[in-house]
Amino acid sequence: MIKQTMDLIEKLDPEVGAGIRKEYERQTRNIELIASENFVSEAVMFAMGTCLTNKYAEGYPGKRYYGGCQCVDEVEEIARRRACELFSADHANVQPHSGANANLAVFYAFLQPGDTVLGLNLAHGGHLSHGSPVNISGSYFHVVPYSLNDETERLDYDEIRRVAKEIKPKLIVAGASAYPREIRFDIFADIAKEVGAILMVDMAHIAGLVAAGLHMSPVPYADVVTTTTHKTLRGPRGGLILCKEEHAKAIDKAIFPGIQGGPLEHIIAAKAVCFGEALKPEFKEYQKQIIKNAKALSDALINEGFRLITGGTDNHLMLADVRPFGITGKVLQNRLDEVYITLNKNAIPNDPEKPFVTSGVRIGTPSVTTRGMKEEDMGKIAHFIKLAASDFEAQADNIRAGVNELCAKYPLYE
Ligand code: PLP
Repeated sequence: MIKQTMDLIEKLDPEVGAGIRKEYERQTRNIELIASENFVSEAVMFAMGTCLTNKYAEGYPGKRYYGGCQCVDEVEEIARRRACELFSADHANVQPHSGANANLAVFYAFLQPGDTVLGLNLAHGGHLSHGSPVNISGSYFHVVPYSLNDETERLDYDEIRRVAKEIKPKLIVAGASAYPREIRFDIFADIAKEVGAILMVDMAHIAGLVAAGLHMSPVPYADVVTTTTHKTLRGPRGGLILCKEEHAKAIDKAIFPGIQGGPLEHIIAAKAVCFGEALKPEFKEYQKQIIKNAKALSDALINEGFRLITGGTDNHLMLADVRPFGITGKVLQNRLDEVYITLNKNAIPNDPEKPFVTSGVRIGTPSVTTRGMKEEDMGKIAHFIKLAASDFEAQADNIRAGVNELCAKYPLYE
């Protein structure tokens, strides 16, 4: 069906159709290791390309500002119900267009400009929307960043508690974009309670693991939980907010009319499909395999001579320090692009390089796991990465041949 859809678009609009086909060929040809990406199911993909895109539905099910919303009400209600069931949440808002929007809505719901927020330093694995000075979160609010422990490269809960007591934040943000270890949301909740702060958890990266019960859930501990739906959760690009019943009104108001207009009901339909898939027992097995693959890949990378931040991983991603090979993250990302392996350069804690250069790369296993790859394939991938880091010119053709062979064994979207 995916190929037929592409054929149709190419017939109706050859210029855009050609672009879509090229991207499809890139995705099927390459080994995808970007930790925040995944490949959706056909059901998720096709739910997005439906007539629901035509409908305006400002408001919420049962209380819309437009007529004709009975059918999209049903779809949005399914999405809300399944999200609550999946994460055992009181309330779900499925309308955020993205993770950044979900986070902004939480700030808007609970804070006044200038209020103090405690969030993980971007350079230590936090996200832009957790209070970076270049983001609205960092320019409208007074954000104090917390950092990883210099020695362990892990969250230092005693230090976070100390800073929280000193600055008395109105809101604490837990959650990360590049942290390979389990996050103790119970300790964050204790700290928030001790200083009278609201606890917001952004579980975007680990939402699939949480849904499968393989990472501590933040839902019982946090006042509000945000996530994207497109990373480990394997849904369409978009956001989701879960909260306790007492905050439901404030959160809904912050999304609409606070920071968004009409919801994307076609995307909400795809979110509903994704939540339905995540409720199935197979999803748990899939998430287990993501973690097994991440452990296998991190062990193999260490054997190949990379230093891993924190020495390994508990989740779906790892951060590799590439300095043992005398190169930067940027150089390795560019080399790997040439041999059909996709990942991103990433700052490591206390990185001496600029953010656009970096000393590290971030590597994740959700996409290769979706393709069906297993632990034995991770050893091959680690070896390709090592060859690119150590002997690129001589090995580029060999790596490309190896990547082609591996991807042919695990076809995508046939
Ligand atoms: N939160 C975290 C932890 C993320 O890693 C990301 C994106 O990578 C986001 C939020 C932002 O999501 P989006 O790109 O959908 O705005």
